[in-house]
Amino acid sequence: MKRKGFSCRNCGHCCLHLVDAYRGCISDGDLERWKSAGRSDIMARIDTLDLGRGNILHLAWIDPETGEDADRCPWLLDLPEGAGHLCGIEDIKPDHCRQFPDNRKHALQTGCPGYSIPAAGSPPPNSDEMQEAPIRKRKNHG
Ligand code: SF4
Ligand code: SF4
Repeated sequence: MKRKGFSCRNCGHCCLHLVDAYRGCISDGDLERWKSAGRSDIMARIDTLDLGRGNILHLAWIDPETGEDADRCPWLLDLPEGAGHLCGIEDIKPDHCRQFPDNRKHALQTGCPGYSIPAAGSPPPNSDEMQEAPIRKRKNHG
């Protein structure tokens, strides 16, 4: 998805620090994409919860060996010498990853530097904008 004024810096902030990235909901479209691509390795890392009455929830990501929640997205690649990060499943990554950030305001709220140049005539960020963050920040573990 092309967004005017947006350019991903490959900083990895969304993948590393926004919990919805590695603990977000997997869509039906994601499941279809991975089934069609024969990516059983991705399917093995999905946590499927049966909420009853036919409601099934699929969540990213677990360790397939232990069934434990992942502390970090297993598809995140580290570039050498701290040069940033890449997604190892870029072409088929989950919808919630490909849709991030929703817009300039969402990027500002969640710390994404992809919109580094303010929109013409836009007001400076204020504290009200910073209070609601649609993507949850990562909890501290341990
Ligand atoms: S936080 Fe923004 S700039 Fe950084 S990797 Fe994610 S989308 Fe790209
Ligand atoms: S699947 Fe790719 S874009 Fe999504 S959190 Fe993992 S590394 Fe980041």
